[in-house]
Amino acid sequence: MAEKPPRKVQHVPIPERMRSLPVDTRGYPVPVNVIRDRNGKPNFAANDESVRQRLFTEDRCGICGGKLLRGRWSVGGPGSALHPDGVFLDPPMHYECARYAVQVCPYLAMPSYGKSVSKIQPMSYGTSKTGIAYNPTVFSTRPDLFLLVMYVAQKLSYEGTAVRSLKPKRPFRSIEYWRDGVQIDESEGRVAAERYLLEQDAVWEAERKRNLRQGSATI
Ligand SMILES: [Zn+2]
Repeated sequence: MAEKPPRKVQHVPIPERMRSLPVDTRGYPVPVNVIRDRNGKPNFAANDESVRQRLFTEDRCGICGGKLLRGRWSVGGPGSALHPDGVFLDPPMHYECARYAVQVCPYLAMPSYGKSVSKIQPMSYGTSKTGIAYNPTVFSTRPDLFLLVMYVAQKLSYEGTAVRSLKPKRPFRSIEYWRDGVQIDESEGRVAAERYLLEQDAVWEAERKRNLRQGSATI
């Protein structure tokens, strides 16, 4: 049975760039890189790896699939955005697409969604081997704070010929802080992000050491 959409979905206008995307039975536009099951039903918690690769290669938006502009945006937890080893796994986005996602995407906007996410198998590309990146399908320590960051240069990390992660050039040109689908004040957001980084540091350090022991760390 289809889950009911959050009430918000009808109240957030779909940006022009996303209007050509197909819409699912609940009213959600389906991002270009969302994987579909054999009946064509989109699984919003998982990305199609071949599409993800193509979007990176062609410098296209991870939501609408359109060509990116010079200033591009990523959405992630404080670790992805602010930690020295922070990286993003998803292709960059247009500002309008990123803002829509952070307001409407259940994995970003609704903390209680975690229950159904945990049933979903992690994707083949993990997070810990290439640095710190938040991926709702892999990490259990889900941040309640999301950052939208804007940058004009990026570095891609590869595994063979496949893109594993993206590291934006810092300092960011712009940062927005979001919680539960609502943008919060910058000073409040900065304090909350710092607190999260402090709390997570021990976890990440342990993970980094484990990866080093396994000889797979590339950060
Ligand atoms: Zn877009």
